[in-house]
Amino acid sequence: MIRIEFEEPNVEICNCCNNEIIKLTRFVYKDEDAFAIYFLKFTKGHDEKVVTGIISIGDWGTNDEPKNRFAFPFRLWTDENDYQVGLIDKEESPWKQEILGSILDRKEALEHPWIDEVFHITDHIVDEDKTVIDYFFD
Ligand SMILES: [Zn+2]
Repeated sequence: MIRIEFEEPNVEICNCCNNEIIKLTRFVYKDEDAFAIYFLKFTKGHDEKVVTGIISIGDWGTNDEPKNRFAFPFRLWTDENDYQVGLIDKEESPWKQEILGSILDRKEALEHPWIDEVFHITDHIVDEDKTVIDYFFD
């Protein structure tokens, strides 16, 4: 059972077009244990409607250095009325923070034993993260 804690969005202004850049931080609990966090980012008004994100899974209940923590960068877009999720390489991730754990390239991510958890969380994002849903469908 997954539960997402939603924080207020951070808003910045895009240098190229003065549109709003929305940055989201979410905490994910699995059976009430701190299990993962994810960051999302998108710019309103750009031609390409895409959300960039990263999901970091592992040991979020502890303040210790994250040893068994892995991060999966991805993009989210829509095709007709369906959401599409595509993993991306570490280099394409706007987030590099050490706290996220080891950031995986697309190929490593797809072979990682936790990849199902990643897609489980992205399923919840497109289902429950209202800021994202509004961005794509408003
Ligand atoms: Zn812009």
